[in-house]
Amino acid sequence: MSLHQPPPVTDTTSTGECPICKSTRYMNPSLRFLVNPECYHKMCESCVDRIFSHGPAQCPIPGCKRTLRKHRFREQTFDDIKVEREVDIRRRVAKVFNRREEEFESLRDYNDYLNDVEDITFNLINNIDVDETTRRFEAYQKAHEKEIEENAQLAEEEKQPQNQVQLKKRMDRQAAAERQRQLQVASEARTGTAGITIKGLKAKQKAEPEPPVDPFGGFRFVDKYFALQNDHVWEGIQDTKKDIRHTAGGYDIADYTHRSLVAAFSGLGVFIADEFTERTKAAQDDEAVGTARADIGLKDAQMVDAA
Ligand SMILES: [Zn+2]
Ligand SMILES: [Zn+2]
Repeated sequence: MSLHQPPPVTDTTSTGECPICKSTRYMNPSLRFLVNPECYHKMCESCVDRIFSHGPAQCPIPGCKRTLRKHRFREQTFDDIKVEREVDIRRRVAKVFNRREEEFESLRDYNDYLNDVEDITFNLINNIDVDETTRRFEAYQKAHEKEIEENAQLAEEEKQPQNQVQLKKRMDRQAAAERQRQLQVASEARTGTAGITIKGLKAKQKAEPEPPVDPFGGFRFVDKYFALQNDHVWEGIQDTKKDIRHTAGGYDIADYTHRSLVAAFSGLGVFIADEFTERTKAAQDDEAVGTARADIGLKDAQMVDAA
């Protein structure tokens, strides 16, 4: 569809007559009229077949120089051809300006954006500054090709059942965030002030990579006070090592010796005396605070008595 100004539309078909072959509904009740969104001139189906079957040709309406293609002809959806054209333009604009509310810093910014889009739409519908508006429209479309496509895809996915989409959307969004930021920078450099600048877009932030999971909160299972040998020659375990009744069940002598060593050395590095001193000090501090509170309480009580 062209966004350029169409020549004035003279509609003779309201009387049921084709402006080209002059066939009428009166003579041919099955007469069907088609329009081409290039210029919105109406003509009957057989004229379309006759004129455009061998390739693109000029619109046969006198004064209209548009080149039309057969596949673009369609039946009119709305009675009023002006409404038909406006709906086409709105659809076309909405397809390119498909930014989402969550892309903006605030609702206010989003509304400003919608307002700007409406200005563009209004200009196109009412043929105001059409050439300049079209140029800016196309520059914007070209500069934001990728984002437009991504948002169209998101909109398409939202039509699908929710559950399967939610997770994918979230993952896509993270990956898209960085890409969009780069595209924005690149497109700003390319278009400069010539295109359409949108204010209030959120700065896309790169998500911090998650650190590796540490289930024990930094605690490391390292034997500090002993080194486990490959073979400890302890009385009592020598027989067990060879005893099939133990080994068949998967009993591991190395596990047993390790456990025994941990138990033997577990008290090292714990200094009861130090811990005790600290505990006593903390208890005394608590007591001191308690006394101070009691003093204040006493004063309060005296004041109450005085009153
Ligand atoms: Zn005709
Ligand atoms: Zn035409």
